[in-house]
Amino acid sequence: MDEELLFECPICDDITPHEILKSQESKKHVKLTVKCLNCGYVHDIEKTLKLKDVKIIISRYGESEKKVSQLPVDEILKVGDVINIFGEDVEITSIETTKRVMSSKVEDIQTIWAKSLNIPKKVGISINDRNTTYSVNILVPQDYVFDNETTYRVGRMFFKIKMIKTEKGTFKREIARKIKRIYANTSRPIRNYEDLTDNVVV
Ligand SMILES: [Zn+2]
Repeated sequence: MDEELLFECPICDDITPHEILKSQESKKHVKLTVKCLNCGYVHDIEKTLKLKDVKIIISRYGESEKKVSQLPVDEILKVGDVINIFGEDVEITSIETTKRVMSSKVEDIQTIWAKSLNIPKKVGISINDRNTTYSVNILVPQDYVFDNETTYRVGRMFFKIKMIKTEKGTFKREIARKIKRIYANTSRPIRNYEDLTDNVVV
């Protein structure tokens, strides 16, 4: 760990920079083993977390489920953060306090909207074959990486990626989770290809 924080050192009798050696977190407590960077003294610090019930609406393939989770009031959450709710990784898509905001302290949050990352990601691919454009949807793990160097195969069609569109622009390489759409061109069959045929969905 390379986190450096300020704590009171009983030896230096002062607030000094500390390094966190170990952190044990339970629902309401954090126990830190810290080392004073001034004198080298190692000691434990316990903190109690103040929690708050927050409503979270989690979507999975267009369906949504409402859950209530206890989150530390001091934590700052922002759109795009990945948090774990009852064992499920979800990405925050929207935060509401008294209005929609991009980030907020949990203390002020009323509702969080999020999408589940525990389900496969459906990625749409437009494959251009000179005069025709084919459209296929495939299901892949959220962290599956697409790039413009690999030759992919779907059924009898081989293709290479021309560009990957995300919310932040276009890329040559990206993980499935961030992809809005892939644009590709058909290519010649080669021996080393990535077969996505079994991943095709309607
Ligand atoms: Zn010290």
